[in-house]
Amino acid sequence: MYNKTREKKREGYKGMSSIIEFKHVNKYFGKLHALKDINLTIDEGQVVSIIGPSGSGKSTLIRTMNGLETIDSGQLIVDGYDVADKHTDINKIRRDVGMVFQHFNLYENHTVLENITLAPKIVLKRSDAENEKIAMDLLRKVGLEDKAQQYPRNLSGGQKQRVAIARSLAMRPKAILFDEPTSALDPEMIQDVLDVMKYVAEQGITMVVITHEMGFAREVANRLIFFENGQVLEDTDPEKFFDHPETERARQFLSKVI
Ligand code: ADP
Ligand code: MG
Repeated sequence: MYNKTREKKREGYKGMSSIIEFKHVNKYFGKLHALKDINLTIDEGQVVSIIGPSGSGKSTLIRTMNGLETIDSGQLIVDGYDVADKHTDINKIRRDVGMVFQHFNLYENHTVLENITLAPKIVLKRSDAENEKIAMDLLRKVGLEDKAQQYPRNLSGGQKQRVAIARSLAMRPKAILFDEPTSALDPEMIQDVLDVMKYVAEQGITMVVITHEMGFAREVANRLIFFENGQVLEDTDPEKFFDHPETERARQFLSKVI
């Protein structure tokens, strides 16, 4: 289904700098220990899939990466900034690290084009002409050029998610975090969104993707994290994981989802 166009690229990224680094990070919701002593480094250009059971802390993990959740102890460096430092301007991180949600989170009272141009206009002070050109190019890439003047309510779920990804790309981010981007979609819409995500991967943008799409995890990602009970249980090559999972928990999980 996919070809491994990033195989060579991955070699080229060896020795490049980390963009996300967790050091002994803990997170609690009251008594619930949601993230347990997380130590994890993600390098620029990596495409990382995170899979694991519901409620294991996957969303919490990636939401800490752009400050949507706070951490209680340890250190988290994203894009060179210490996320927990009160002097850190979280908006600087969000400018370079985008997020794509399960439920799209588009601005409902703005057109598709405005959804894409708004942040670059305000945050990057990009001129209207350049902004529109970049947005239209992106809409073409995601196959929605003809929807520029529509409102989100007139789009299907798959189309909305492609707009959300285009909106993220318009900021020219270093990384995009995806939290189950295809989980709310009808089956026939999933592939179009996965194709756009594959395109993002080919641009060399760092991706962290929580997903149930095992095809994407196996074929597009170059790193796989199996998350369970607030911890990284396996952190390995996707093919190795699917062919020879190391832990009994991962074997059980795979036997249910594949
Ligand atoms: P996953 O994304 O793997 O399904 P989550 O990160 O959403 O898991 O949740 C991990 C655990 O933390 C779950 O037990 C969940 O109920 C709990 N949790 C998540 N967010 C909150 C919150 N805002 N308040 C309290 N508990 C939460
Ligand atoms: Mg989740």
